[in-house]
Amino acid sequence: MTARIIDGKIIAAELRARVAGEVARVVREHGITPGLAVVLVGSDPASEIYVRSKHKQTQAAGMASFEHVLPVDVAQDDLLALIARLNRDPVVHGILVQLPLPKSVDTETIINAIDPAKDVDGLHPNNAGRLAGGFAALSPCTPLGCIILSKSVHASLQGMNAIVIGRSNLVGRPLVQLLLNENATVTIAHSRSRELAQLCARADLVYAAVGKPEMVRGDWIKPGATVIDVGINRLPGADGKTRLVGDVAFQEALNVAGAITPVPGVGQMTVACLLVNTLRAACAIHGLPKPGV
Ligand code: NDP
Repeated sequence: MTARIIDGKIIAAELRARVAGEVARVVREHGITPGLAVVLVGSDPASEIYVRSKHKQTQAAGMASFEHVLPVDVAQDDLLALIARLNRDPVVHGILVQLPLPKSVDTETIINAIDPAKDVDGLHPNNAGRLAGGFAALSPCTPLGCIILSKSVHASLQGMNAIVIGRSNLVGRPLVQLLLNENATVTIAHSRSRELAQLCARADLVYAAVGKPEMVRGDWIKPGATVIDVGINRLPGADGKTRLVGDVAFQEALNVAGAITPVPGVGQMTVACLLVNTLRAACAIHGLPKPGV
């Protein structure tokens, strides 16, 4: 049996189109253009690529995009002053500070300074706490993307056994909460977990968010399971170019799983969900009903 490929590119494109439709409606009916401000500190090449792609896709969805590029040696107070300005700016509904930040800046202090209503990365403790408490919250984008990809295979995740490998604030932990909201039964695994292969073999839904190339092997996977591989690992290829591999041994898993994401499986979904969060934040700030995406 060969697994069905979960095409994150197509699913992300459909989601972006739905966001664009809702943005057009909000502009037409309420005269509000959702706006996203992205703050980039320094010139990390990978971060620059992400920021450029966010800018293009935000504009393509009909939203306003504001980019703020600060030097790598920016003083923390200057960064905090920019965030305070963006918090007050009525045309900005979403604020994203591209991570990782340089070591001279305290990431937690910066995230805590963002207005939770504009925290479209869902990392502010208010949003993380609300999500953990089962209340409405802005949720981190990659886990939101994982849920949408899973629901492209299963109309409902209710009662399914899920394993989330990884417990970061960015991916693993919020994904666990979102799966609970979907009434899945969730096992959370991490670097101290024992008998990971056996834990994994019980799961109908496998989420790998570890950052270890091809750690999850084909024989860990229950036949027919759905596998969402969040991992993006850059390895040197035979031709001297960089090769991208996930946290799952894709070729092995392909013969066992029922459905699986290729690498990078969730990347495009993350940006599409950022647009969703910006639209949701704009509607909530203006007291409008939740948009239909
Ligand atoms: P972190 O490094 O923050 O977290 C990794 C998690 O994996 C930790 O909880 C760690 O456990 C766990 N872990 C490490 N080693 C093992 C092991 N041997 N067995 C089981 N668990 C282990 O990574 P992120 O969550 O930020 O990212 C994970 C991966 O997802 C990376 O490859 C990253 O590039 C990718 N990613 C992709 C995104 C996208 O597609 N858009 C977005 C974000 C991330 P412990 O807590 O015990 O240390």
